[in-house]
Amino acid sequence: MARTIEPDCRQCRREGCKLFLKGERCTTKKCAMERRPVIPGQHGNSKRRVAFSEYGTQLREKQKVRRMYGILERQFREYYEKANKMQGATGEVMLSLIERRLDNVVYRMGIGTSRKQARQMVNHGLITVNGKRVDIPSYQVKSGDIIAVKENKQDNEAFKDLKGSKIVMPKWLEFDTNTLSGKILALPSREDIDSDIKEQLIVEFYSR
Ligand code: SF4
Repeated sequence: MARTIEPDCRQCRREGCKLFLKGERCTTKKCAMERRPVIPGQHGNSKRRVAFSEYGTQLREKQKVRRMYGILERQFREYYEKANKMQGATGEVMLSLIERRLDNVVYRMGIGTSRKQARQMVNHGLITVNGKRVDIPSYQVKSGDIIAVKENKQDNEAFKDLKGSKIVMPKWLEFDTNTLSGKILALPSREDIDSDIKEQLIVEFYSR
């Protein structure tokens, strides 16, 4: 089954915000949200948004974050259910679990320019965890894990621009662009994750 039927930029337009799904393009003027921030199918004033009900607001926030990370509904709900059984604020624990996905870490370290590209790299066996190839994008990283581009894949065209470049990343991660290897320094806390996510709305959506 296809992961999603909507092209990337259309998803951003539907959510009314930038989800950063297309790598470098997202930070340029070519970004569809910079050019025409209109909801797909809606005509007239392109900046007008319809007012959502409480349910609609919760649903949209859930969809926004699900699309941002490129996760299917069933799996997204499983993160909520797992977090709900764990200690701590459910919303924060849920975001931390999602943030610890290997595909997200590969994106955050700058190895992939988008989460989609990062997922492909993991799927294609280009990434190792503690020296062993891991091709499961949802793999949960742990503190102390060493994440690297597989040694015999380092000459791959996809890593040409990465070598020796400067990358800004959250403080729970480190990555050396010369050796193409990095480390999980700590587990991500709420302040390490996008501040404009309203995780409480997602918890309310699933606990209805
Ligand atoms: Fe979204 Fe990126 Fe497309 Fe802009 S370029 S609309 S941020 S996917």
